[in-house]
Amino acid sequence: IVRALNVTKAFHSNEVLKGIDLDVHEGQVVCLLGPSGSGKTTFLRCINQLETIDGGRIWVDGDLMGYDDREGQLHRLTEKRIAEQRREIGMVFQRFNLFPHKTAVENVMEAPIHVKGVDKKTARAEALALLERVGLGDHCDHFPAQLSGGQQQRVAIARALAMKPKLMLFDEPTSALDPELVGEVLAVMRELARDGMTMVVVTHEMAFARGVADKVVFMDAGVVVESGDPRDVIDRPQHERTKSFLSRVH
Ligand code: ATP
Repeated sequence: IVRALNVTKAFHSNEVLKGIDLDVHEGQVVCLLGPSGSGKTTFLRCINQLETIDGGRIWVDGDLMGYDDREGQLHRLTEKRIAEQRREIGMVFQRFNLFPHKTAVENVMEAPIHVKGVDKKTARAEALALLERVGLGDHCDHFPAQLSGGQQQRVAIARALAMKPKLMLFDEPTSALDPELVGEVLAVMRELARDGMTMVVVTHEMAFARGVADKVVFMDAGVVVESGDPRDVIDRPQHERTKSFLSRVH
């Protein structure tokens, strides 16, 4: 469902992505691992075109992201078309970015109503079901400030799911949380994976990667150093750079 070919990206002279390839099949969970600054977040943001890429191509569900390929020439799509492509992809950030003046259920209803034109009653019923699914059925009328970080992140996951995405991107979803709140967010993600959601997850949670990922991709300095089955990459890494990274995070 995701194919990235030779993706490159620089910020001025800083080459952050130096030819990244990635394949994600429907229903797979792929974890991106690697040291800080290796380009994981940038690559994730390239998938849904929050960043433009300098070279290479990315397809999501057969759609070439950000461009129209006419007679071998790439033409940048309009912002409107890019926004439509992005709508198919849910994203969960390190920080939850909920609307502070809206309750949990209002946060989840917002995009279906305003972006998709779903009627309020349907949006509310779906939002309540999603909050139930992330274990927050009892907290639907709470404002973000009344929720813990873990609960806010679960609302953020429900909010992304409300758009019925084909793909979910997670950018270090637990790294801003107090340690005792990490588990509840990972449990929701595990559940999602079990339900067949296609997910690309940037994470430092090795137990999650080992237990849930179908594939892990280790990036360093803008390249994929190695990728494959988590038991191979995490437990029997082939490359020095992977070994040294893993010895630091374990
Ligand atoms: P982390 O785990 O710290 O998030 P990462 O592997 O996700 O690291 P990126 O956030 O993708 O790495 O950053 C890769 C490099 O790109 C870093 O050197 C960073 O300074 C640079 N970078 C990221 N975003 C921008 C930007 N908007 N403008 C300029 N440089 C940027």
